[in-house]
Amino acid sequence: MSAAEAIQAAQAAQAAQAATQAAAEAARAVAAQPEALNVSGSATGLGRFVEPGVIDVSHGPILYLEDITVQFDGFRALNKLTLSIDVGELRCVIGPNGAGKTTMMDVITGKTGPRNANVSGRVFLGQTIDLMRMTEPRIAQAGIGRKFQKPTVFEQHAVWENLELAMQADKRWWSSLRARLTGEGRSKIEETLAVTGLEAEAYRPAGMLSHGQKQRLEIGMLLMQHPQLLLLDEPVAGMTDEETMQLAALLNGLRGTCSMMVVEHDMEFVAALAGDEGKVTVLAEGSVLAEGTLDAVKRDERVIESYLGR
Ligand code: ADP
Ligand code: MG
Repeated sequence: MSAAEAIQAAQAAQAAQAATQAAAEAARAVAAQPEALNVSGSATGLGRFVEPGVIDVSHGPILYLEDITVQFDGFRALNKLTLSIDVGELRCVIGPNGAGKTTMMDVITGKTGPRNANVSGRVFLGQTIDLMRMTEPRIAQAGIGRKFQKPTVFEQHAVWENLELAMQADKRWWSSLRARLTGEGRSKIEETLAVTGLEAEAYRPAGMLSHGQKQRLEIGMLLMQHPQLLLLDEPVAGMTDEETMQLAALLNGLRGTCSMMVVEHDMEFVAALAGDEGKVTVLAEGSVLAEGTLDAVKRDERVIESYLGR
């Protein structure tokens, strides 16, 4: 594949993530004045990459779901689901198979919405952005990044190139003439290699990486799009224990740069992310069964009954 074809393929593959000209312009304007990089109305100091005034989190939540019902042929995959994620929070979501966890992520990202399914309720990013009215690419552009279960990296391309391809759509990293990577763009790639622990693999083809490394690379590719909210659906499935703990360290290291929602069954992984104080949500039959610290939900009779077993 030629470089031009690779870029085309990357752009096609990432159509859902593609930032428009306007967003890139806005991002560049933001990059030019770093002091404007705080979330509007927020005193948290989080959201380094937030475009000012775009996501209003002045009253707390970065994400708010209210009374979401999704019906497939009369079957309620989500049933009046109400849930909110605070800005800067790393929320773990657990629950039995078929509870509606993936469907919830589909609704948040616009993959499932009023256009293609029987969906009711409200979904807001910050106080003002009504995700129910938006298409999948626009939701991605508004700052929601999603990691699917299976890693989707460009196997023939080096790790570095994968990160470079992930920034294709974002004009702020490119000098306008021959679309050459700027020094700032290179620094961003180096920073992401460090964050994902892939510095030593930078010039290896992604196809040669271990499963755990591929998963970290894909998260790195999402980070190149500067998400405000990262959704991860069963990210440690198929990983070794060591890879699982490396991913927990990576996500813990992202605290303060974006909010996260992580769906996972692996309880050691959930424990490593939630710690003693973090809030864990238990979904069952399309709504919230319990919410609280991991310790509290593990002791909840209904959770033991429907999910953990005795
Ligand atoms: P989880 O991720 O918690 O395992 P899902 O959200 O994948 O659960 O699924 C919730 C329920 O909705 C399941 O019973 C599943 O079979 C059903 N479901 C999900 N997507 C569809 C669809 N497109 N059409 C019909 N049923 C679906
Ligand atoms: Mg699922």
